[in-house]
Amino acid sequence: MKKIDLHIHSTASDGTLSPTEIIAAAASAELAAVALTDHDTTDGIDEFMAAGKAHPEMLTIPGIEISTLFDGREVHIVGLFIDHHNPKLLEFMKRIQGERHDRNLKLVEKLEQAGYPVSLEEVEAVSGGKIIGRPHFAQVIKEKYAFNTLQDVFENCLKRGTPGYHPRVLPWPAEAIAAIHAAGGVAVWAHPVYRNQNERSWVRRVLRKIAPEGLDAVEAYYSKFDATQTRIVIELAKEFNLALSGGSDFHGENSPGVMPGTGFGGLEVPENLLPPLLEIAKKYILKQSDPSNKDLKEE
Ligand code: AMP
Ligand code: MN
Ligand code: MN
Ligand code: MN
Repeated sequence: MKKIDLHIHSTASDGTLSPTEIIAAAASAELAAVALTDHDTTDGIDEFMAAGKAHPEMLTIPGIEISTLFDGREVHIVGLFIDHHNPKLLEFMKRIQGERHDRNLKLVEKLEQAGYPVSLEEVEAVSGGKIIGRPHFAQVIKEKYAFNTLQDVFENCLKRGTPGYHPRVLPWPAEAIAAIHAAGGVAVWAHPVYRNQNERSWVRRVLRKIAPEGLDAVEAYYSKFDATQTRIVIELAKEFNLALSGGSDFHGENSPGVMPGTGFGGLEVPENLLPPLLEIAKKYILKQSDPSNKDLKEE
């Protein structure tokens, strides 16, 4: 069976390949489908879809990844098959981009206090797009202060608990799910487990809340998951009647060792996850064009 990859970042957010380069990499990996899911932006989608036309054998899917907060922890929601020009989604992105910008100004202050001064201009110069994230700060700090790896920078001054860290104001999962649905997309909880299998009870607690709020699927196949983690997510998906998704979370040089389609080498997201996801997408697209749906008609 052919493979798919439904979680990838480009230069429009914190990846280092352009959308066109991602299409080329996905095509040479012979993927049956590929989705661009940049953080908080759809700026790369037009280029991605245009480049995808050169590979009609590969399904090219417009997507997004939105960080949300639940119970003090980040819950990342990926939207697949979104209409990236939907006004409600655009408005929502504008809000979270503003909150990201405010956080970045704070990072500049905190990093200065922590002994690693960097200017916003230096970070903008490496970002390639208008979404500035911690990986861009890490790139600048790595070069400027001679760290060996981006990971070392995160460990030292960017991850939670370190002196350079400052939290971002994040939306609720339900807000991200609603914005994705308004844009006709399928809402997927990305990498629901990432520490160990004891996460099962936490994941269940989150799903009890966000499955009724409209979550459609969970990411069961992910670069950093081992077989046990994948199995746990599949079991929980069954329990909550959710579809499955999967992807590499490829970021180019900002995710060292990860490749589109294959992750760290062992990732295999099977093509047969696609039909159920497409069925769900169809449901939201129909809803979007339903004239009795007053709320959406007003947009
Ligand atoms: P931001 O959205 O600007 O807070 O940045 C979050 C991004 O930073 C994530 O999507 C990852 O790409 C990256 N990231 C977060 N934590 C780490 C870490 N500990 N090591 C390496 N990269 C990280
Ligand atoms: Mn990222
Ligand atoms: Mn994520
Ligand atoms: Mn991601």
